[in-house]
Amino acid sequence: MRIGLYPGTFDPITLGHLDIIRRGAMLVDRLVIGVAINRDKGPLFNLEERVAMIEAECKTLSDETGTEIVAHPFENLLIDCARDVGAQVILRGLRAVADFEYEYQMVGMNRVLDSSIETVFLMAEAKHQAIASKLVKEIARLGGDVSKFVTPEVENALIKRLR
Ligand code: ADP
Repeated sequence: MRIGLYPGTFDPITLGHLDIIRRGAMLVDRLVIGVAINRDKGPLFNLEERVAMIEAECKTLSDETGTEIVAHPFENLLIDCARDVGAQVILRGLRAVADFEYEYQMVGMNRVLDSSIETVFLMAEAKHQAIASKLVKEIARLGGDVSKFVTPEVENALIKRLR
């Protein structure tokens, strides 16, 4: 059984994340969404809220792709989380060149820590490529329309939290 781990903060989950999850789900039998606790980042949504949003959004994707998709909170080293969930591959999304530098280093170091776990990069379709949770939150905070970036349920959660 091929197991993939897609780690991130998902604060909150966006259409960019969902695009990557859909593509990732087609490559593995079980997709674990690793939800980083990330207390330092001061997330807008707490861990339980982020996990609940991911589970709600991934239900249809799971039915459509036939791949089991589960959310798994983690606070330890990414490579240890991958081992814990039995993942052979780590999936990451690539947006602009800015993501590349960081990801390049991560792959290099993770490979030293465990050479048996491969990292695979996926790109979202053009209209989802620029989406970042950080900017979505900023737009919502300033009263802008985020309906092109997140699902209606996540949009409502953002409005409720920020206004
Ligand atoms: P963000 O940077 O939006 O807060 P996360 O830390 O939750 O996102 O990112 C988790 C993973 O999803 C990372 O690999 C990140 O590059 C990827 N990702 C996030 N948004 C997109 C997008 N719009 N297109 C492709 N990959 C994305």
